[in-house]
Amino acid sequence: MSKSKYGLNTICTHVGEIKDEQFKGAVSPIYMSTSYEFDDVAVKRYPRYFNTPNQEYLSKKIAALEHADAGMIFGSGMAAISTVFLAFLKQGDHIVVQNTLYGGTSNFIREEFPKYGIEFTFTDGYEVADFEAAIRPNTKVIHIETPSNPLLTITDIKGVADLAKSKNLISTIDNTFASPINQTPIDFGIDVVMHSATKYLGGHSDILAGAVACNNAHMDTIFNVAKNLGGSLSDMTVWMLERSMKTLNLRVKAQNKNAKKLAKFLSNHEDVKQVFYPGLKSHPQYDLAKAQMKGFGGMLSFELVDALDAMAFQKELKLIKSSMSLAGVESTMLSPHKTSHALLTQEERDTIGVSDNLIRFSVGIESKKDLIADIEQAISKVKTSQLQNQN
Ligand code: PLP
Repeated sequence: MSKSKYGLNTICTHVGEIKDEQFKGAVSPIYMSTSYEFDDVAVKRYPRYFNTPNQEYLSKKIAALEHADAGMIFGSGMAAISTVFLAFLKQGDHIVVQNTLYGGTSNFIREEFPKYGIEFTFTDGYEVADFEAAIRPNTKVIHIETPSNPLLTITDIKGVADLAKSKNLISTIDNTFASPINQTPIDFGIDVVMHSATKYLGGHSDILAGAVACNNAHMDTIFNVAKNLGGSLSDMTVWMLERSMKTLNLRVKAQNKNAKKLAKFLSNHEDVKQVFYPGLKSHPQYDLAKAQMKGFGGMLSFELVDALDAMAFQKELKLIKSSMSLAGVESTMLSPHKTSHALLTQEERDTIGVSDNLIRFSVGIESKKDLIADIEQAISKVKTSQLQNQN
């Protein structure tokens, strides 16, 4: 796998830009053509072949950030994830999947794989031994997500990648929560990295997109299925994603810093029961997170004490939005049991530790003091109104 000679900010700003040779403009032009010359050209371009100029060039930025040979941009994170799974799995094959992962990925596997005769096992835990125990003779892929959504559990990336290699399996990772700024799984031996680019790569809550990075041979396998499934992204949005990614390193670093401070504030708060953040020394896998991540990320989860209603608390927030998605420059919170994990049964949520009182916090770039003030005023309002209701 190749590493760019440039630093992170330079990759974000410049790698994958298209030079405007005609007018010498400072930014990449947008090529909206869906029709390109076909005869006597080296590259036969078509949007669903993922190779229009904007798609092809932005892929280079994704590849450079993920230390991969090749990248590909998709219409959504789920388009990227579903395409990768269907590229490496066929009828009769089996996949080992981490138990704690994004609800949409889990739904896709549970609802669609039986239709294709693809078998799957969700692990009991997220230790390497849990993945090993789930491997069967027909296993072809191991899929992990770290840090995981919403509990920020940490999986040993190198441990799983080594296990997959020793059994000749493809290892895949959802790297959405970390972003390539905080974690480059290919360096630890992972085969295919996937992203919901809707999240940190987009970063402004206005783009739905996905991305994949891997070596050229795996990308050929993925492309052959991708062009049939057709989950490509419009060039207008590819261009917006390129613009957003210029500030990826700056945004993520600011979010890392804020999240660490907010995690510390919450863990010292008398009305908070528990905080889940890999950058806290109290996190059970702090050492592992430190070893495999360059920053601990902008995502954390916490539980208020039982006496406080989590939904009422979120309704009182003024600055922090209650929002379904994550990773924008603005801070958001949500209750996973009502949103990302709503389609799981209560029993499934209990098994993976998603309680009704859990709040997922996507920390933005606002001033730390304003975020803290917002949380304090919301807690105090909930306390006051609960006291009034008791009297
Ligand atoms: N992976 C993770 C970790 C996510 O949080 C999400 C969406 O929330 C996805 C994948 C799916 O991405 P998209 O909504 O862009 O399809």
